[in-house]
Amino acid sequence: MLEPMVFFCSACRNILSDSQLYLTSHKDENVISVTGVCGASAVQSKQGRPGDTVLICQHCKAEVGKLMPGQSDSGRTAIWLHVSAISSHQLGTCDLRMPGSEHQNLSEGAADGAPGLGDTAGMRAMLQQQQTELLQVQSMLLLHHERLLQLEASSAAHSNPTQRKLDDQLDATLH
Ligand SMILES: [Zn+2]
Repeated sequence: MLEPMVFFCSACRNILSDSQLYLTSHKDENVISVTGVCGASAVQSKQGRPGDTVLICQHCKAEVGKLMPGQSDSGRTAIWLHVSAISSHQLGTCDLRMPGSEHQNLSEGAADGAPGLGDTAGMRAMLQQQQTELLQVQSMLLLHHERLLQLEASSAAHSNPTQRKLDDQLDATLH
């Protein structure tokens, strides 16, 4: 299940599709498969095989995808968007926010009757909290490690070779 997001043309930011229309991704082809696009036109490809149909961004004319007859699971024409030609915006994320509104928008969506979205926000908050705690533990471990190294170094410096010899002799006589 994809987070709610819109896909847009990387070149001109013209909106092309969204996560509600998302079907699947094909990593080997570097494309995502969607059930619909907007702001794009299907035209005959000038390159490639004759009869190939590509999707052109209506705004900047960049090639953003292609139509693939018979390539969908049901045997119908699949709509592919080139991952390299599109960018995405996840709903509810933005750089500049009203003070104190950091984690609210997705939970509000849940209150409006969109189940699951609130859980996602809660999960993300929990993950962030856990990451912070992990960082704290890691830095504590580092501190302890440094202290241990210092102790080892100072005890090595203080250990007296003659004393050690005496100890060995003492050991030998005792046994
Ligand atoms: Zn464009």
